[in-house]
Amino acid sequence: MKKRIVPILISLIVTLFIIRSITRTASSVGNWYRGNTHTHSLWSDGNDFPEIITEWYLDNNYDFMALSDHNILAEGEKWMTLEKVFERQDVEGPTAMEKYLARYAGTDWIETRDNNGVKEVRLKQLSEYRSRFEKSGEFLIIQAEEISAKFEEHPIHINAVNLQGVIPPVKGTSVRDVMSRNLQAIAEQEKMTGEPILAHVNHPNFHYAITGEDLAHVTEEEFFEAYNGHPGINHLGDDMHPSDEKIWDIANTIRLAELNGPPLLGVATDDSHTYHGGDASPGRGWIMVRAKKLEAASLIEAMRNGDFYASTGIYLDELSWDNVSRTLSLKIRPDGDNTFTSELIGSRTNYDPADKKTIGEVLASHEGTSIDFNVSEDVLYARVTITSSRSASNPSYEGQMMQAWTQPVGWK
Ligand SMILES: [Zn+2]
Ligand SMILES: [Zn+2]
Repeated sequence: MKKRIVPILISLIVTLFIIRSITRTASSVGNWYRGNTHTHSLWSDGNDFPEIITEWYLDNNYDFMALSDHNILAEGEKWMTLEKVFERQDVEGPTAMEKYLARYAGTDWIETRDNNGVKEVRLKQLSEYRSRFEKSGEFLIIQAEEISAKFEEHPIHINAVNLQGVIPPVKGTSVRDVMSRNLQAIAEQEKMTGEPILAHVNHPNFHYAITGEDLAHVTEEEFFEAYNGHPGINHLGDDMHPSDEKIWDIANTIRLAELNGPPLLGVATDDSHTYHGGDASPGRGWIMVRAKKLEAASLIEAMRNGDFYASTGIYLDELSWDNVSRTLSLKIRPDGDNTFTSELIGSRTNYDPADKKTIGEVLASHEGTSIDFNVSEDVLYARVTITSSRSASNPSYEGQMMQAWTQPVGWK
């Protein structure tokens, strides 16, 4: 009798162990890659050359980046007058052109011409400059566009990252209709080319154009900017409007409670425009993606699985979700003598739609760098916001502290 029970017990334990390791690691294979998916250059309304901006990201420990100019890709012949390049600059000091000339001094890289007495410079295409910076497995440039549509006075901007051809903004009959139609145009290109495109709705509080309710109801939408580093986008909201973070909770609560749809996932981006000391500078917000390879398709697949977090200065050494024990585990990378507060935020299944306090409430809070949150069964979802005791080094709003945001769990 004993002889038979022992092998059965052993195989049972092994099976349980395998099941457990599958559930734990199903979404956690790969390396962490740091990237920014929202940046502007002279190709639209940014004030520096794409090569100089790309080099900035390369030098500042990013693994991937996307220049996402408004309604344009860096392709085709585009000449700009030196006067126009200069006008973009908002502070004193060496000009973009002077720095560009100095950077490529002694080479024939820069092309200028005299056009009827007007001096012009040609903007380099992505296909021309990408090989100067890209290195397999080390640094990746992903083609992107900020599709900049609007409804009446409401700007509706959606980043399409890894698109294969320009997508002109589509008009519509309401904020939700414009969002929906532009996301459909992105989905159509993805279907046609077979190349995945990451689409994220940008800065909902810019001109207070897009509400949490709007984000909830446009169900084609998978990602939005939980943080955008441009100082003009009303990240914190005001007396009349909820913050970007609260908007995230409103959208996800409606999605899960009323629409039976998956929650929105949140990215952090720079939306940088100024590179000479102006106020929309790079380096403020990024994502960390756990992907098998540093390739666009692999990064997008991981993001669709929710295997990433958004950050403005905090790094995680561990992030895992165990769907069986409903445990969300984090290890925050220590940073000098900074302290960290991690809040588990979510809505309970019995939340009150009329009481905003019950939408995205703080379910638990922990100090320290090693945390296991247990997510109870009575929530629609839960996510974590981590806040450091250290101020952001280049804040986009007054009093900004370094933060990180993990994706919603516990909703499947
Ligand atoms: Zn925008
Ligand atoms: Zn932008």
